[in-house]
Amino acid sequence: MSLDSMIAKNTKRINAVDKRIINGQTDVNQLVPFKYKWAWEKYLATCANHWMLQEVNMQRDIELWKSPNGLTEDERLIVTRNLGFFTTADSLAANNIVLGTYRQITAPECRQFLLRQAFEEAIHTHSYQYIVESLGMDEGEVFNAYHEIPSIKAKDEFLIPFIDTLTNPMFRTGTLETDQQLLRSLIVFACIMEGIFFYVGFVQILALGRQNKMTGAAEQYQYILRDESMHCNFGIDLINTIKLENPELWTEEFKAELIELFHKGVELEYAYAEDTMPRGVLGLNASMFKEYLRFICNRRTTQIGLPELFPNQTNNPFPWMSEMIDLKKEKNFFETRVTEYQSGGALDWD
Ligand code: FE
Repeated sequence: MSLDSMIAKNTKRINAVDKRIINGQTDVNQLVPFKYKWAWEKYLATCANHWMLQEVNMQRDIELWKSPNGLTEDERLIVTRNLGFFTTADSLAANNIVLGTYRQITAPECRQFLLRQAFEEAIHTHSYQYIVESLGMDEGEVFNAYHEIPSIKAKDEFLIPFIDTLTNPMFRTGTLETDQQLLRSLIVFACIMEGIFFYVGFVQILALGRQNKMTGAAEQYQYILRDESMHCNFGIDLINTIKLENPELWTEEFKAELIELFHKGVELEYAYAEDTMPRGVLGLNASMFKEYLRFICNRRTTQIGLPELFPNQTNNPFPWMSEMIDLKKEKNFFETRVTEYQSGGALDWD
């Protein structure tokens, strides 16, 4: 028997239809044949969005931050609390992917996206560190905020049980209970953490940028927002595909539990908004954030097939945020530099 026919006899080639997002039996090292094209396309899109924080000049921010009348006390509080949340948040996200989610996902196209996402979380953490260092902020205060500032601590404590489930080395999917645990954690991360907990913080810094303040920080946040909205959209596709492949997971009880978690997430993020903006500032006030959080929560729940939790909230108080996410334009919002990353040798997959 020839070698070729022996291989053909002893090994079965992968059929795309046999691939599964979770509990799959096909070789995770074989990317092709593709089954989940949406995952591969999102991977290509994130690569085309590549940016590095060192490209952003922080000089104007440094001058403003150090000048005695550059920013009001309220604006300084926003920047400090904001970085207090974000410096650790993207680390939590990265660890959750690398030590938790990644090994449970059996589709190589999705793993490829997660690898890219993990690197982007590292860039984001680096970016916040770069801002803190550039401004000469009190690093101890900023990096310990997640232990010391109650509204930040509460958000992180909400997330910890879901991280602990997945990062437990003994955790394996394969039963109704563990498959639901994985799905629940994916929903908490993509829809509540990346989809809700990041948004008050993004609005705050981007609102400063719109007033021509802290434009270097705001420019980085704009790239981060674009990355995060891609993470959130990937997560939603992942969740919906797992639901399609495993419809038995989506029980009434499970849905009721998720709705509770979304309510809790909105409540915690609103508490954070009040804590970081005790008075109105930058034309923003806490009650606008209540509306905004309800508006985006409706989007997140409907994207994964749950009802709108706040059906009366049809108004978006920050319509300019959608322009911020849609960065495919020639120039960045703050007009500091060209941000057309998708030009030149970039990828054209349509
Ligand atoms: Fe992310």
